[in-house]
Amino acid sequence: MAHVESIYADVLDAYGAFSAIDSGLMKSYEGKDRQAWEKIYREKRGALVAALSKLPNDGLSRTDARAATLMRAGLSDFPADASTLSPSSRCNNAQNPDLGYDALRGALYSCFDELGNNLQFEGATVNRVSAFSMLEQIKEPERRKKLFLAFSPLWEAVNGKDQPDSPYRRMIAMASADAAKNKSPVIAAAESLGVQPADVEAWLEQILDAWRQVSGDRQMEPWDYRYAAGETGRELDQTIPREGLRTTSESYYHDLGADLNQLGVLFDLDPRPGKAPLAYTDLLRCGQTVNGAWRRAIARISASYGRGGLSNMLELVHEEGHAVHFVAVRARPAFTYNDSLLFIEAFADVPSWSVYEPAWQQKYLGKSSSQSASLRNLYSGVMLDVAWALFEIRMLHHPAADPNAVWTDITSRYLHIVPHPEYSWWAVRVQLVDSPGYMVNYGLGGLITAEIRNRIRQSIGPFDAGNPRWYSWTSEHLLRVGGEVETSELLRGFLGHPVSPQPLIDDMRRLASSH
Ligand SMILES: [Zn+2]
Repeated sequence: MAHVESIYADVLDAYGAFSAIDSGLMKSYEGKDRQAWEKIYREKRGALVAALSKLPNDGLSRTDARAATLMRAGLSDFPADASTLSPSSRCNNAQNPDLGYDALRGALYSCFDELGNNLQFEGATVNRVSAFSMLEQIKEPERRKKLFLAFSPLWEAVNGKDQPDSPYRRMIAMASADAAKNKSPVIAAAESLGVQPADVEAWLEQILDAWRQVSGDRQMEPWDYRYAAGETGRELDQTIPREGLRTTSESYYHDLGADLNQLGVLFDLDPRPGKAPLAYTDLLRCGQTVNGAWRRAIARISASYGRGGLSNMLELVHEEGHAVHFVAVRARPAFTYNDSLLFIEAFADVPSWSVYEPAWQQKYLGKSSSQSASLRNLYSGVMLDVAWALFEIRMLHHPAADPNAVWTDITSRYLHIVPHPEYSWWAVRVQLVDSPGYMVNYGLGGLITAEIRNRIRQSIGPFDAGNPRWYSWTSEHLLRVGGEVETSELLRGFLGHPVSPQPLIDDMRRLASSH
């Protein structure tokens, strides 16, 4: 088993190296260029497939059997042909009605680079993420509407005129068929919480309904949604220049006992053409024992920040949360990653939600917004994720449904947003077209985040303004084991009770009581 796992670690490392090169962060790594790493990758992957097929199915210890299961599952994330990794597809290809599932998703992903990164507004080009934070800032409603409508080329590339054979509607039908054959992200998320898929949907509805109740009953236009909840962002954005994103978030992590420099985290935050149109964190190499000593994992963060501001801060602290998580794992190579994307996404929000606490703002920005405005800002964003999660569950269940109608139903009922079924305005998240069902990991993640934040506070005290025990304590009690323990079991042990949406709902209720 140790031999198989060392090959697995080599596959992880080679993959990490050439995807870092593909990302544009570096031209070579450890003296080898992409071609050299790809060659190593091909050889090692072949060796891994052979070694895994020779592993006996019986007679393994429980842990070894789990290691074999995770490595076999992990294999599907590592393409046999690594030369096609960088998306070479064009957005236009999505119009081709004969495109298969993977090719169609690849083409739609390219739309987010080609169109989402080139929104035209008032004679300038803005990217998707900047546009979101501008929608929070711009005072004049008619200019907000104009910026909102600047997304039209992206919406139309993804969902045409919402006709039954639009690119998205063809894609979601194939995604639904695929989910019936392979495990859907929704089922995976439910399993990792030890609940039924139907519970997941009911929980999302419960959370949204709590928001409907605490968020006031004023109806608003979709282009006003971010502005209406964006008072905190408007008050604090000027305290976060672009360069401040890194320095401020680093001092927060430093105060949590996690020095990002010492941990060797790599950053690539400048916008540039062709860069991945979404923020993500990956491993450049995995952690493992080498010659009897632990060799730490190296995490790298990729994002595109043209400006500073609070919403970008939230995103960067989230990505840094992934980085400190991955580096904290001290497990065998097979257990480098937790088995649940839901858990991984939820943990990254544990530190990032602090950005919307007045204690964090006061300490790191020297100025704070009110508790109620901060909560409204945070949860209006979280609720969009929950709404997208519910949208995806419903679309995967009923792939022939009209996505604009499904989205309109959710957002008018729970988010008090005026119906605009003529716009496919849900089509602004890369994950919706790239990995259908993935939004469940964010939408449901909020519930786990609230549970974990509660448990940490009860155990070591508040951490919104730093807490030197935070990193060592969470590493010891939650992160260190990596994928060795199933997420449902890990969370049950950590929380001391089954997960429920109650802590999140209770936290949201602070909004109603602070009116
Ligand atoms: Zn994430």
